[in-house]
Amino acid sequence: MRIVLVGPPGAGKGTQAAYLAKNLSIPHISTGDLFRANISQGTDLGKQARSYMDKGQLVPDEVTNAMAEDRMSQADAAGGFLLDGFPRNVGQAEALDEMLKSKGVALDAVLDLEVPEDEVVKRIAGRRICRNDSSHVFHVAYNQPETEGVCDICGGELYQRDDDNEETVRTRLEVYHTQTEPIIDYYREQGLVVTIPALGKVTEVTERAMAALKSDEG
Ligand code: ADP
Repeated sequence: MRIVLVGPPGAGKGTQAAYLAKNLSIPHISTGDLFRANISQGTDLGKQARSYMDKGQLVPDEVTNAMAEDRMSQADAAGGFLLDGFPRNVGQAEALDEMLKSKGVALDAVLDLEVPEDEVVKRIAGRRICRNDSSHVFHVAYNQPETEGVCDICGGELYQRDDDNEETVRTRLEVYHTQTEPIIDYYREQGLVVTIPALGKVTEVTERAMAALKSDEG
């Protein structure tokens, strides 16, 4: 299956993507994670991306599209993938359509994770992420790790993302509304959008998403 996950920052895309990818046996491709890996490795791509990310703005399309295409061309993605954080504007969605068309394949579904804005802000402000695996996500109030600063799952160090501060979050939400939300209409015209209410337990949201994908298939 080829699936795109959309939703505002803090909707739980990364968390859901990790579960769904495992359930569906397809790789989880997160452009945010790819950029962060480049930043921590000090690559040129990372240097280019960093200034945009720190401000909560989108990294320019030519950089992002090339990186996404490169990742989608790897062997493990030949039979399908779950895209998290890409595409993030209509230009990227068009570029993705071109990439898929040139390979003779197409998207199966676009899952739109729906969360109220006040919830999103609360989630992001207290979010702590494991350095070893970005799908190991905790929250200082809602999902505390047993030991402060330590990942329950793998013992890794928990940290707050540079762009998870209030000011940057506000910009990220604005960018989401103005640039990313239009892709939902773009995909709606292609009949691909499935809206998933993303409040409630992580496992409940995953079940909703899996059920939606199954009924979509049949
Ligand atoms: P979130 O969904 O929680 O906002 P991500 O990890 O997906 O976080 O993205 C973090 C940042 O990485 C974005 O604010 C943006 O600067 C950059 N980024 C990620 N994906 C893209 C993309 N497809 N196009 C442009 N910039 C991106």
